[in-house]
Amino acid sequence: MSRFLDKRLSSLKAYIPGEQPKLGEFIKLNTNEFPYPPAKCVFESASKAVENMNLYSDLTCKELKERFKDVFGYGGNNVIFTNGSDDALYLCFLTFCGEDCGAAFADITYGFYSVYADLCCVDKQIIPLNDVFAINHADYFGLNKTIFIANPNAPTGKRLSNNQIEEILINNRDNIVVIDEAYTAFSGESCVELLPKYDNLVIVGTFSKSRGMAGARLGYIITSEDIASDLEKVKFSINPYNVNSLTQAVGTTVLENNDYYVECINEICKTRDKFSEELVKLGFDVIPSKANFVFAKHNSISGKYIFEELKKRKILIRRFDKERIDEYLRISIGTPEQMQIVINALAEIVGGIK
Ligand SMILES: *Cc1c(COP(=O)(O)O)cnc(C)c1O
Repeated sequence: MSRFLDKRLSSLKAYIPGEQPKLGEFIKLNTNEFPYPPAKCVFESASKAVENMNLYSDLTCKELKERFKDVFGYGGNNVIFTNGSDDALYLCFLTFCGEDCGAAFADITYGFYSVYADLCCVDKQIIPLNDVFAINHADYFGLNKTIFIANPNAPTGKRLSNNQIEEILINNRDNIVVIDEAYTAFSGESCVELLPKYDNLVIVGTFSKSRGMAGARLGYIITSEDIASDLEKVKFSINPYNVNSLTQAVGTTVLENNDYYVECINEICKTRDKFSEELVKLGFDVIPSKANFVFAKHNSISGKYIFEELKKRKILIRRFDKERIDEYLRISIGTPEQMQIVINALAEIVGGIK
């Protein structure tokens, strides 16, 4: 730490991302990435975009937005694109969590909410999940804070129903409710349908988990035109070109090939459900997942031990050194072949101990 660091940041703890090892070194199931290759036309659109990368990117993301509307039903002044959805969440903290309005979120949820709150010097109200790791939605009524909910939640994979979200919106009419839909594609549902009824709803999403673009960084916000214009103002006060031209081109082509991605998403869900059954047979308690990962703990063997044994076998998963969940393992869903390798390894690990 230098002596110049702003005092308010001296105790800031940065977000700790999952390990990013050398390509091919591990079966990488630690950051919920998409396990399939891009649609074929993506290669061509990326190399075409390179021809024009001497020019600044399109500030309005016009083409991307048109294709986005085809798939998600919203475009125009209701949508803002961002450099991954972390960028979108940061914009929400900057724009809607001032001195007199803190942020509220679960104790076990996406780690970045707490980091952004600290970075922006925003008051945090942390609301524990219940005993079965579910959000008790009534805990969120009338908080007078900006609310952040990952739905499905990470790392639990549980989803609140749209009715429950609706009740949260009704009971917070004068506050923004941010629903982070990073994993929504794997749940078969979205709360986009609530947008016409509630002017305090902000939906954040990403192309990282369900569209194979984690490395290209593309996130989005869907909300009312008024809220979007506030966010846009802040975005233009930081980095108007936050979505680069290569990413815009690739994102557009990805959306044009939506059928391919939907097929992959369905495949991932099937693999997830089958993998979960196999885990149960091996003595794991598995939380039924609506996302592209499972969160599970073994009924007798420590999470840390299993994590390390898998790593020795070149399989990388995620574990959190955090109260309440330190026995749990979060395993991203890869291809069926990859998950079979994981099951075989786990059978060896938990079978070898007895
Ligand atoms: C992965 C993730 C994000 C961020 O993804 P980006 O790659 O920044 O788009 C946001 N929210 C949740 C809950 C996530 O798991």
